[in-house]
Amino acid sequence: METILFLAHTDSDNALPKAALEALAAARDLAAQLTGGAFTAALVGADVQPVANAIAAAGAARILGVSGADFADARYASDAAAAEALIRASGATIVIAPATSRFSRALAGAAHRTGGRADTHVAGVTAEAGEIRVTRGYYRQRMVAAMSRAQRPWVITLDPGSVAPWQGAAGSATVEAVAVSVPAARTRVAGFQSPAASQQTIKPEASLLFVAGAGWCKKQRDGQTHTPEAEQIILGFLNGSGASLGGSKSLVDQSGEGNTVLSFMTHLNQVGQTGSTPRHPKGLAACCHGEEPHAVGWRFINDRRAINMDPNCGWAHGKADVVYVADAFAVMRKVNELLG
Ligand SMILES: Cc1cc2nc3c(=O)[nH]c(=O)nc-3n(C[C@H](O)[C@H](O)[C@H](O)COP(=O)(O)OP(=O)(O)OC[C@H]3O[C@@H](n4cnc5c(N)ncnc54)[C@H](O)[C@@H]3O)c2cc1C
Repeated sequence: METILFLAHTDSDNALPKAALEALAAARDLAAQLTGGAFTAALVGADVQPVANAIAAAGAARILGVSGADFADARYASDAAAAEALIRASGATIVIAPATSRFSRALAGAAHRTGGRADTHVAGVTAEAGEIRVTRGYYRQRMVAAMSRAQRPWVITLDPGSVAPWQGAAGSATVEAVAVSVPAARTRVAGFQSPAASQQTIKPEASLLFVAGAGWCKKQRDGQTHTPEAEQIILGFLNGSGASLGGSKSLVDQSGEGNTVLSFMTHLNQVGQTGSTPRHPKGLAACCHGEEPHAVGWRFINDRRAINMDPNCGWAHGKADVVYVADAFAVMRKVNELLG
């Protein structure tokens, strides 16, 4: 019989990240299929009691915790040691954890130390006739593979956005403390530096992905480029809507080619085959023609719309649910006006 462990860390607000609640939902689903619903939860963080209380109603038979100031921040040495101790203490054969950047760094090490295997970026976990299968994308998500493993413990990190997060009322939970002595750490967390929220254009939790294409910086009907206005319109829309910003390769590459550019657009914003394939419920592409942003970058977007002046833009036609044949400058100016 498998022993299923839901493993998570707290975030900087001492709460569970949404990705962890998704992993919790996946662990519960798997437990319902395999173990009559029995599973264990394990938490890592500065103080795990509030988080344990928050998931009290999820039905974990045991909640184990590694807490203390040493475990407040992401650091390979302390996170791998905590995960190793929790896997051993729970006797887990299957570990389901969120693929946050913090755990993506540490859990392969914990799997190795416990004699197990890790599979990362998993998009689904099911059991068929008692055999556990995970699904995962390959070749920039163009192919999906389903696979199983005999090796235990099997550490599975679930990509954010793959399943609906667990929701439930808070209660009061008992945490079994697991002691971990942190190895003499060479890495000391001095603090965080991140752009102000208004400058942070990549927002994985946003309900909308706005994909800007190279058309924003191209000559328009009057024969001139209007890049400063494009910047103003796009930033106005991002601030008004809270959307996350993606860009086509042609647009993000422009800075290297001496063209006028959108100052806030970087290679990190690029979506597509050689960019990212983010998961958002909705997408809006404007001034974007390419195959890669539409076919690959939008792979996990459920409701897709595009604005293009070219009525024959094949990829927008093929991949968007709705195409507005219009000038994106005019449309987005109006949208910003409506957003106030
Ligand atoms: C190996 C390889 C990997 C690649 N990987 C990626 C990738 O990961 N991501 C990616 O994006 N690309 C990738 N590309 C490039 C891709 O094939 C396209 O060249 C690129 O996506 C085109 O970018 P675009 O649509 O922004 O620009 P364009 O093709 O120049 O399209 C601009 C569009 O803007 C429209 N437009 C202009 N003005 C307006 C206006 N006022 N209102 C409305 N519409 C307007 C035009 O009608 C046009 O359709 C890759 C290519 C290769 C060979």
